[in-house]
Amino acid sequence: MRRQIGRPQDCVPVASAKSIAYKVSWVGMYQASSSSLQQHMPAVAEIAERALAGERLQASEAQALIESSGEELSLVMEAAGALRDRAKGRRVTYSRKLFLPITNLCRDRCTYCTFRKDPHDPGAWTMAPEEIADWSARGRALGCKEALMCLGDRPERAFAEYRKTLAGLGAASTAEYVAIACRIALDHGLLPHTNAGVLSGSEMAMLRPLNASMGLMLENVSPRLRLRGGPHRWAPDKEPAARLGMIDAAGALRIPFTTGILLGIGETPAERAQSLVAIRELHERHGHIQEVIIQNFRAKPDIPMAGAPEPDAYDMARAIATARLVLGGSMNVQAPPNLSPGEIELFLRSGLNDFGGISPLTPDYVNPEAPWPHIERLAERCTRAGFELAERLAVYPEYINNQWLDPALAPEVKRLQAELGGGKT
Ligand code: SF4
Repeated sequence: MRRQIGRPQDCVPVASAKSIAYKVSWVGMYQASSSSLQQHMPAVAEIAERALAGERLQASEAQALIESSGEELSLVMEAAGALRDRAKGRRVTYSRKLFLPITNLCRDRCTYCTFRKDPHDPGAWTMAPEEIADWSARGRALGCKEALMCLGDRPERAFAEYRKTLAGLGAASTAEYVAIACRIALDHGLLPHTNAGVLSGSEMAMLRPLNASMGLMLENVSPRLRLRGGPHRWAPDKEPAARLGMIDAAGALRIPFTTGILLGIGETPAERAQSLVAIRELHERHGHIQEVIIQNFRAKPDIPMAGAPEPDAYDMARAIATARLVLGGSMNVQAPPNLSPGEIELFLRSGLNDFGGISPLTPDYVNPEAPWPHIERLAERCTRAGFELAERLAVYPEYINNQWLDPALAPEVKRLQAELGGGKT
């Protein structure tokens, strides 16, 4: 029987600035509350306790966590927060970024997407090199350090006119044009992070010396979402096997990698749990997953999924907490603050330690209705909740070494690290 999904009980202690003083006893508090709760809910309490002790959870156990509600959810969130505190302390991070939508043409048609365009659609846009240079200069002037190259998937396979555009730009493929864009961004002092959809191993190898890190949302491992009526019916690049294969290949190439799951596209709680476990298995193989994003579907009027329900705040909280408990204390767990602006404190309580890229200049082209938070306001909210907000680069500190970064990027990374200083906002 499916568990009733609900908000957590108010019994979870809400962190405040004062509560930092007792953060050292946070785990003790968890253990005390866990023993009383265990009398009523042994399964979830025991699973959370074992995860907190560093044990590796099975997919069925992750499912129990991600379906928790009421007191159980309080317990899961508390354990996730304790695990985060123990491994990362109370420092949460973000990357000051410039969002460059290199092309919004895409061969796929996900039913929740407003980003993609066909070549003759109003708003179809492939950025010219001069535009990339202009935006890069403006972003750098505003302190941006990351250039997010975010674009549609393999449009050259679908549109002859776009292939001509690429040829005019001196590129035989979208990946080659992204390489040109990365060089422009690097010339302007920005560290590229490319998310160009599914790339081949040779394309990633070409882009590796030009990118501090790369990314691809796994979204979900369920092949069911590609069936008739599913959100990925007309999106061949959303085939889970292709996405798992690319993430695996990125690990073999030693590319620091960002991935994550998308909530609210028709997946079940079990499929959410299985997706988190699949990400953990890829990370166990290569050690390359630098962060895992928990992203919520946002309904928009002009998409086929306009009437689909959005995940609520507690769906997000239970997914963030489950991600923390499945992936462990050392993983960076992120949720985009612009997609849940009222839930910053709830997410911090659930074990999150990163807010991803935030731009002082460019909109979130994928969710243009959702403005980025003002960084100073976000920092104030973090402080009130008992956390410190700090800026990071597009590559996390644990990956800044010869094993993971191409030597060609080292001077630029070093310079930007120095610019970060203490990493304060
Ligand atoms: S979500 Fe990505 S892959 Fe899907 S249609 Fe939009 S741009 Fe293309």
